[in-house]
Amino acid sequence: MGDTIGELLTGNAKFVSGEFLPNEEYYQAIATKQTPQVLWIGCSDSRVSEHQMTGSKPGTMFVHRNVANIVAFNDVNISAILEYGVVHLKIQDIIVCGHTRCGGIAAIEDGVHENYIADWLCIATGAKESANRIAAERKLSREEKLAVLTEENVKLQIKHLKNLALIRNMHAKGPLPRIHGWLYRVETGSIDVLIDGRDDGGKTRRAAGKKSKAARRR
Ligand SMILES: [Zn+2]
Repeated sequence: MGDTIGELLTGNAKFVSGEFLPNEEYYQAIATKQTPQVLWIGCSDSRVSEHQMTGSKPGTMFVHRNVANIVAFNDVNISAILEYGVVHLKIQDIIVCGHTRCGGIAAIEDGVHENYIADWLCIATGAKESANRIAAERKLSREEKLAVLTEENVKLQIKHLKNLALIRNMHAKGPLPRIHGWLYRVETGSIDVLIDGRDDGGKTRRAAGKKSKAARRR
């Protein structure tokens, strides 16, 4: 049996000598005040490490992770994280990131009967309905259907996010926070952009600009 805990502590010593101390100015600055630029909503899966996959230093992202990267509309936890992130830390970009080979997604597809997991995954039922329809139309294999379900789940969770009163009220006033939908491929380490929130923000800004010009003409 390996000494996992010992390895973690040895890893920390290496982090201190190889990363922290050589970049001490940076780490002392974030020790005083965190100023993350991104709010990350991802899966708890051990392979999906947001800072590592994006080559980011600690201090870049404010993070919420749960089984199957779900935005639960009745979850005080995620609501508090969102409020702190966008109101207090003034984060302008939120990323909802799904990933391939997600156990939560497979459980949504296959059905799960354990109490808490089943209750939690209920929140993604709408994604399963969309995936069922698409799979029937395109005659997809199980593997292809899981890929569709993973993407539909990211889209559904973004819809939930946009429906939360905090975000809805902010979007009524302007394009921020921008919301991005990503897919991380555990087989290759690469990210696919499913929804580019930079585009959406541009459109919203242009639309707002047109509206104000029209308003000026009136
Ligand atoms: Zn997962």
